[in-house]
Amino acid sequence: MSRYANIRPDMARLWSTLERSAQIGTTPRGGLRRLALSEDDGVMRRQFQAWCEAAGCTMEIDPIGNMVARRPGRDPDAKAVLVGSHLDTQIKGGRFDGILGVLAGLEIVRTLNDHGIETRRPIAVVNWTNEEGARFEPPMIGSAVFTGEKSTQFAWERTDKDGITLGAALEAIGFAGSDILRPEAFDSLFELHIEQGPRLDEQKIQLGIVTGAFAVRGFVVEVTGETGHVGPTPMPKRRNALVGAAHVTLAVEEIGWLMHETGGKSTTMRLKAEPNLLGILPDHVEMTCDMRHPSDEVIRTMMQLFLDRVPELEEKSRCRITVRESWSYGGMTFDPGCTALTRAAAQQLGYTHTDLLTEAGHDAMHVANYLPTAMIFTPCEDGLSHNELENVTLADIEPGVNVLLQAVLARAG
Ligand SMILES: [Zn+2]
Repeated sequence: MSRYANIRPDMARLWSTLERSAQIGTTPRGGLRRLALSEDDGVMRRQFQAWCEAAGCTMEIDPIGNMVARRPGRDPDAKAVLVGSHLDTQIKGGRFDGILGVLAGLEIVRTLNDHGIETRRPIAVVNWTNEEGARFEPPMIGSAVFTGEKSTQFAWERTDKDGITLGAALEAIGFAGSDILRPEAFDSLFELHIEQGPRLDEQKIQLGIVTGAFAVRGFVVEVTGETGHVGPTPMPKRRNALVGAAHVTLAVEEIGWLMHETGGKSTTMRLKAEPNLLGILPDHVEMTCDMRHPSDEVIRTMMQLFLDRVPELEEKSRCRITVRESWSYGGMTFDPGCTALTRAAAQQLGYTHTDLLTEAGHDAMHVANYLPTAMIFTPCEDGLSHNELENVTLADIEPGVNVLLQAVLARAG
């Protein structure tokens, strides 16, 4: 480890920034509702910008609102090391999901300032726009525009449930920037995040070294039946799309159970029924499903198992069942070099740690296909996340922040 191995972040200072963040968009149960590009997101972004500028950073904002606060390095030609995550939350979200990763990046900058440490590479603290996708779909759209996988125009045209476009929302809070942020201009990315699952907390392990990500397959199923009166229509003549949806839901669930011993999971997570009225048999249901597994090959098998069952589900429900669209992500491995830096820091600092895969989606998974990327997990209480009661203690996060600091220092030189 470097000669700066004894440098420690100011955890009390980091905690007070987390507490300030927890006041912006607070819910009655003590969580956060800070939807992407909402007024509260604007307040938080301005607070973050003020903190970064006070720490001597310059702020760059791109047309999708990604924010990058740059602390200059010694070498004017060296590409910057990105550190960060996201400041937006779910509708009933917690105070730490994403936020910890951004504010820990800020704390690293402040710590380096305290000690007058100049790195060779610049350090750039990033806040990705709309990671959660709770207001605008798809999630992780800021990092997808950064990598070029999605166009700015595509992103700007997304609408929320009130019909407001993402572009209009960006302009309303004043975060439609004009800086060009592209992977080519950066060296690497480090993302610290709460685990959002129970493993570290249950086993009392201080850190997760995230070596890669579960493979994820999402798909939209359409069930088509026929409307009719719920009274006079005889049972044998009914084609109730909600019955088809029920069979689909159970089939998806069974595949998750079939694969759960090797880490498989499956979910039906959304359902829209039409006409969704009293007295009438629904003729159309659109449902969104999700399957996850550590292995890309198994995820293909899981999907095939579902497709193979469709004829039987159609027969049982007398509805037509089609998979309208599907998408996949994850299943990748993080950069061995950057990951080794986090593992080495954990070892030298004497923290208990384990290698694991992330089961949730993160911006780092988009970026990993373009830049050397590493992720570190801290435990969170009972693994609870995307919940207002999501919680960590200062002691839970201290090892992660220390390891993040040392790994970033090692990479930035
Ligand atoms: Zn997150």
